[in-house]
Amino acid sequence: MNRRTFLQRSAAAGVGALVIGSALEACTRVAVDSERPIVGRPPFTLPPLPYPYAALAPHIDAETMRIHHTKHHQGYIEKLNSALVGHPQYAATALEQLFVERDRLPEALRPVVQSHGGGHYNHSLFWQCLTPTPTPPPKALTEALVRDFGSAEAFENQFAQAGLSVFGSGWVWLVQLEEGKLAVETTPNQENPLMYPAQAGSKLLLGLDVWEHAYYLNYQNRRADYLAAFWQVVNWGFVAGRLKA
Ligand code: MN
Repeated sequence: MNRRTFLQRSAAAGVGALVIGSALEACTRVAVDSERPIVGRPPFTLPPLPYPYAALAPHIDAETMRIHHTKHHQGYIEKLNSALVGHPQYAATALEQLFVERDRLPEALRPVVQSHGGGHYNHSLFWQCLTPTPTPPPKALTEALVRDFGSAEAFENQFAQAGLSVFGSGWVWLVQLEEGKLAVETTPNQENPLMYPAQAGSKLLLGLDVWEHAYYLNYQNRRADYLAAFWQVVNWGFVAGRLKA
């Protein structure tokens, strides 16, 4: 696909502004959230939480949230920024684009984008997936869950089972595939589905961090309890707002 076809197809797919790094070839479709971006442009900064650290207690405790945000997330940002300083040609490139072009990046940058770029992006999305004042899933989202999982409860069961199945550190995702269907996926470490070329057209709707740092202070080894508590603080309005028509 040439650049023109790419842009036409992207426009047809409802994708907004695309920022293509000068060093990157625009041959892989990538959905950049132009209206409500998950992250800004380099140098990246820690996004403020949309609620106080204690707001999600007792489901997620204040100390976990504070350390997770100010230490873990901040650490990914600092390491990502310092690596990008040596590669100014990517200063205006969307992180989503770096993910999909990962295998063609300078060798030194690849693992940084995968680990720390993923860490920044995944956590920026994760904070927004949570809320101290949850409301039921909007109708359009419930209908999509019923269509693709049989019921909202079946989706939650599949998501929780996937969360339990992650060995070591990783994430569980509700993604909307390019053709519109919803699916549950898991990724190791700080990877996310946007990093896999076959999935570049997918959209991340909901993400759950199942690294031990996300729950160990409160739940220790009881990941299943953390997964159960998660449903008490999911921001369904945010998730539904990311659904593609
Ligand atoms: Mn984390």
